Amino acid sequence: MRRRRFFGASAAGGLTLGGAGGLASPSAMQTAKERPSALPPGVTPSAYTVPHSEYGAATTPDYFVYANDLVIERNRPGKPHKGKVLAAVQAHSDDIPIFCGGTVAKLIDEGYTGYLIRLSNDESGPVGNRGPNWTLGHGVLLSQKDNDAVAEALGCKKAFSLGYQNHRLDEDALIEIRGRLIFLFRLLQVDTVVCYDPYNDYEENPDHTVMSHAVQGACWMASEERDYPEHFKLLGFEPKGVREKYYVARAAHGHNTINRVVDISSYIDAKVRSNVAYKDKGSAGDAGLRLRRALAKQGKKLPLLGDDDDSANFNYVKHFMMDDNRVFGAQFGLEYAEAFHYLGPSDSRPNPRESRQKYIDAHAVPL
Ligand SMILES: [Zn+2]
Repeated sequence: MRRRRFFGASAAGGLTLGGAGGLASPSAMQTAKERPSALPPGVTPSAYTVPHSEYGAATTPDYFVYANDLVIERNRPGKPHKGKVLAAVQAHSDDIPIFCGGTVAKLIDEGYTGYLIRLSNDESGPVGNRGPNWTLGHGVLLSQKDNDAVAEALGCKKAFSLGYQNHRLDEDALIEIRGRLIFLFRLLQVDTVVCYDPYNDYEENPDHTVMSHAVQGACWMASEERDYPEHFKLLGFEPKGVREKYYVARAAHGHNTINRVVDISSYIDAKVRSNVAYKDKGSAGDAGLRLRRALAKQGKKLPLLGDDDDSANFNYVKHFMMDDNRVFGAQFGLEYAEAFHYLGPSDSRPNPRESRQKYIDAHAVPL
């Protein structure tokens, strides 16, 4: 039986993960997970199912499927996005850092004014830094600080926390969440969003699903003058739709459609710092210093972790948690990369309104 493809049609079998992460090669991992199939001879499978939830490109067959118009977005010299506004929207303090921290840092460095908007209060996230006597309330306070620290690490101008209860976004009215986002998008005059992909058929975390659909609607409705007209009449806002979207899909069974690969090689350290910034989640944050101290109690040390807590945290995240970005980027000759379903204005397709106006300008004659 042919070995299953990894990362879609480009088949990166044989890639090994560098760095101290030292995971098995993706191809080996997939081979190990193969199950017997009852497909008749001669039938070529076009999809694979995954019987468990493994959120990761390195462990899920066909995690990405590629659109034909795939674009590799590289560094753009100068400040080409000067004057534009970016909203990175996340349900929890770790969503943007894990999946798109490099791209957000890149876009801001290239001129965007960035804002980080968090929907939940993160009260029931994984217990990382709360200590043995943790409480939900303690988590709310820590995560608020974490969200602000993530925004700072990415170069955002300001962070917002909307405070919905964690893992319960689906009991809040979608229309209220969307309305608050419309308010912020108009207030900030947002051009571009980074968020989870609302077009994906998705995953287990209800907060991600609700958020992505609220963002999707808000991007369009922010431009509609008849929605929430008091924003214009009383507050003086300008209607403005969000025209560019960098959406991240993380369906556990794979088949996440992408059409944009962003080279984040120059921004990997910023991405690492944004992951170190969220302490309450546990997966990154202070994981390096905890490991360093645990080893010290055994009379050991990892040279990789350096000689102080800051070095331990940074090096731990960079060498143990960036493998997906490294392996994915290697397929495109990039050191590190992030993957997106990108929606944006097209330069090549005619705009019907502009075409109509051009026709009127060219052909209108005096009465
Ligand atoms: Zn999340």
